[in-house]
Amino acid sequence: MKTIAIVGGGSGGVSAANHLAYKLKSEIKEGKVKLILVEGSTKHYYQPGFLEIVFDLMSPQSTYKNEKRVLADGIALVEEYATRIDLDKQIIATEKQNISYDYIVIATGASYDYEAVPGLKDGTHNFYSMEGAIELKNALNHFNAGKIVVGVASMPYKCTPAPLEAVFLLNDYFTKRGIRDKVEIEYMYPMPMTFPDKGISDITLDMFSKKDIKSNLGFQLKSVDVEKHELVDQNGKRSAFDLAIITPPHKGNKLIQNSGIGDKMGWVTVDNLTLNIKGHENAYAIGDSTNLQVSKAGSVADAEAIVVSDRIVQSVNGENPVSVYDGSGGALMITGLGTASMITSSYTQKPVFMPESYSFYWLKLIYNNVYWNMTAKPVLNGVIQ
Ligand SMILES: Cc1cc2nc3c(=O)[nH]c(=O)nc-3n(C[C@H](O)[C@H](O)[C@H](O)COP(=O)(O)OP(=O)(O)OC[C@H]3O[C@@H](n4cnc5c(N)ncnc54)[C@H](O)[C@@H]3O)c2cc1C
Repeated sequence: MKTIAIVGGGSGGVSAANHLAYKLKSEIKEGKVKLILVEGSTKHYYQPGFLEIVFDLMSPQSTYKNEKRVLADGIALVEEYATRIDLDKQIIATEKQNISYDYIVIATGASYDYEAVPGLKDGTHNFYSMEGAIELKNALNHFNAGKIVVGVASMPYKCTPAPLEAVFLLNDYFTKRGIRDKVEIEYMYPMPMTFPDKGISDITLDMFSKKDIKSNLGFQLKSVDVEKHELVDQNGKRSAFDLAIITPPHKGNKLIQNSGIGDKMGWVTVDNLTLNIKGHENAYAIGDSTNLQVSKAGSVADAEAIVVSDRIVQSVNGENPVSVYDGSGGALMITGLGTASMITSSYTQKPVFMPESYSFYWLKLIYNNVYWNMTAKPVLNGVIQ
C-alpha cells in the first residue's frame, strides 16, 4: 500500500487531496492507496471573502465551512497540526503520532509576522483574517472624516491586488455614504510602483488620479508610532494617518522552519516546473508555502495542486511523472462597487489587466459561492471521471 500525505487543508491542500481522491478512487477502494490529510484547523476558510466582509459583500459565516465538508470520500482527515516533517525518513510528526508516507504534499500556507514591525499589531487594522476584517468593518462604520492609509508592509504577501481593491472599494464606500470629500485615501507600497508590474502600476495610477486617491510609493515600513498615529519608514520618513489598513509582513509556516526545510523566510524551495522539493522526488510543496516567484494566490495553489496530483498518480501507476506547472495564475480584481478586472499571468506571459467590466464583478461575486464546489471540492471532476 502507498500512503500519500497532504499537510495543510487550505485552498491548495484540499484541492490536491480532492483531485487525488477522484483520480485514485479505485486504488483507495481496493486498499492499494491510503490518502491522508493532516490539518489542525476544524475550519476551511475562503480567504478572498475577508476583504468582502469589510464592505458587506460577504457575511463572515459564508467565508468558512467545516473542514470535513470540503473533503471528498476516501480522504482520511487527521485533525492535528504537524509539528515536524522528516523528508529523509518520510515521517510527519504531530503531538500525538508519527505518520509514515510514500508521497508528501506540503501546503501549509503563509503566516503573518507582526513582530517584524513594532506597533503594527496595536496601531493598525487589516483584512488578512476574518476577525481583522470584522474589526475593520466596525471601525469604518464609525469613521466620518480624516486620512486613511491602505498599505503593504513588505513583499511578498497574499493576493497582490487585494490592497488596491481595498482603496477602490473605500472610494465607493465613502462616496455612497456622501462623505468622500471629507476622507483622504492614500495607498502606500514598498516598491516604487503600485503593483509589481509596471504596466498594471501605470493603469492603476491613472485610476487613482481620476478617483482622487493619493499614493506614497517606495515606503518601506519599519514601525508604527501608535501614539502619534504615524507610519515610519526605513529612512525615518513619517506618514500621518487617522486609520491605517496595513497588510502585515508574511513569512513561511513555523513547521517549515522547525523541520529545516525552508529558506531563511521559511518558504519551501521547490523546482518551478515539477514543484518537487530539491533532492526528494516524492516530496512536493504548493501554494503560499513555496518560494516560487509567482503570486501567492488561491488560483496558483489550485493550478499547482492539479499538477502535483497528476504527477503523484503517474508515479503510483508506475509511470514517469511528466506533468509540469506553467506558472499560471489569475485574480479577479475589484475596481469599485460594480466593476472588476481580471489579471492573468504565467512564466511566459507578463501580467495582463483586462478592461474593467460589470461581468468580471459579477463573476467575482458568483465565484464566492462557486468556490466551494468548483475549486475546493470540484464535483464536476467526480462526474466526468
Ligand atoms: C484578503 C485576501 C484576499 C485574497 N484574494 C484572493 C483572490 O482574489 N484570488 C486568489 O486567487 N487568491 C486570493 N487570496 C489568496 C489565497 O487565499 C491564498 O493564496 C490561498 O489560500 C493559498 O492556499 P494555501 O493552501 O497555500 O494556503 P492556505 O489556504 O492558507 O492554507 C494553509 C492551511 O495549512 C494549515 N496548516 C498550517 N500549519 C499547519 C500544520 N503545522 N499542520 C497542519 N496544517 C497546517 C492551515 O490551518 C491552513 O488550513 C487572498 C487572500 C487574502 C488573505
